[in-house]
Amino acid sequence: MQIQSKLPDVGTTIFTVMSKMAQEHGAINLSQGYPDFDPDPELIERLMHHARSGRNQYPPMIGILELRRAISAKLGRRSEIDVDPETEITVTSGATEALFCAVSAVVRPGDRVIVFDPAYDSYDPAVALAGGETVHIPMALPDYRIDWDELEKHLDDRVRMIIINSPSNPSSGILRPDDLDRLAQAIRSLNCFVLSDEVYEHIVFDGEAHASVLTHPELRRRSFAVFSFGKTYHVTGWKIGYCIAPPELTGEFRKIHQFNVFTTSTPMQWALADFLESNPGNYIELPAFYQAKRDLFRSLVAESRFELLPCAGTYFQLADYSRISDMKDTEFASWITQEKGIAVIPLSPFYRSAPDTRIVRFCFAKQDETLAEAARIINAI
Ligand code: PMP
Ligand code: GLN
Repeated sequence: MQIQSKLPDVGTTIFTVMSKMAQEHGAINLSQGYPDFDPDPELIERLMHHARSGRNQYPPMIGILELRRAISAKLGRRSEIDVDPETEITVTSGATEALFCAVSAVVRPGDRVIVFDPAYDSYDPAVALAGGETVHIPMALPDYRIDWDELEKHLDDRVRMIIINSPSNPSSGILRPDDLDRLAQAIRSLNCFVLSDEVYEHIVFDGEAHASVLTHPELRRRSFAVFSFGKTYHVTGWKIGYCIAPPELTGEFRKIHQFNVFTTSTPMQWALADFLESNPGNYIELPAFYQAKRDLFRSLVAESRFELLPCAGTYFQLADYSRISDMKDTEFASWITQEKGIAVIPLSPFYRSAPDTRIVRFCFAKQDETLAEAARIINAI
């Protein structure tokens, strides 16, 4: 038997590689993005409660109504966005599954999908498996803005989807309302969908507001917007996310979802539904919470030889290490993990064609003590 790989260029994800290396070398893990602190105890209590109350069998394929209603209510309160829980919201096994289903739902062999580099690593393989071809447009340092004129040069009838991600992982840049206007204008005459990865919607700093495609009526009609409870409630391991899209798009999305995972964990959905109802404004504190961590981390390493890039959102801080070494970023990430005891993520795996830069990503979703301990090491490099 011979396997002809459908993803010949894909290895193990850089997140898995770096977290494993961190563990093997006992390094402080600032690589893969997850908090090293627990979620709100009430959320855990609700999970235990529902698991003990017999909520352990299949929930509805599209997610429990209580959670879909809570999501809809939150959007209504927060941004006066009207979303129908029955026809427009699907609960998924994390944002990753939602991204995969959205791409699979509309991308056909030969279609083109535009992504902006550095791009989150799951977009490209999802497009490849659907038979599509990704077109990578680089974003410019230091604040990683999208060059909309450049996008326009790549637009034609073959472009079926544009994937945007704000706040963006790994760049930490954000899109603003005028960016959404430019996007809407650029694709107005095309049969082109938007996949908007908004998992860091509540981690936006310095008083800026998150610009969601859901608030842009023209984009909303052609968009899949993808979210994750993992980021907002410090439960990345629960793997619960959701996709919001107009009814016709949601219909196609669910055809994939039902045969991909069918549905997602019951007690977690109930716990989140309860928590959203009893703590409707919980996420309002999130920007300040993570901004304090960003500022703490930045000030702790301000005297180091790393040069910090701007960070407008997400819980990632990019840093240029060219004053320390001219190693390639993948080599540098291995070296700093194995020799210095701090695990980071190199940036080149997020590019089709990586620029000649020396940049790594630190995750600051950590307890203040972890950040202080990490900074002691970073400052001595
Ligand atoms: N998109 C981006 C930009 C992410 O950073 C992540 C994970 N951190 C995901 C999607 C996947 O989210 P989930 O863990 O809910 O699948
Ligand atoms: N999104 C997380 C990060 O950026 C990792 C998720 C994963 O490991 N797939 O670190």
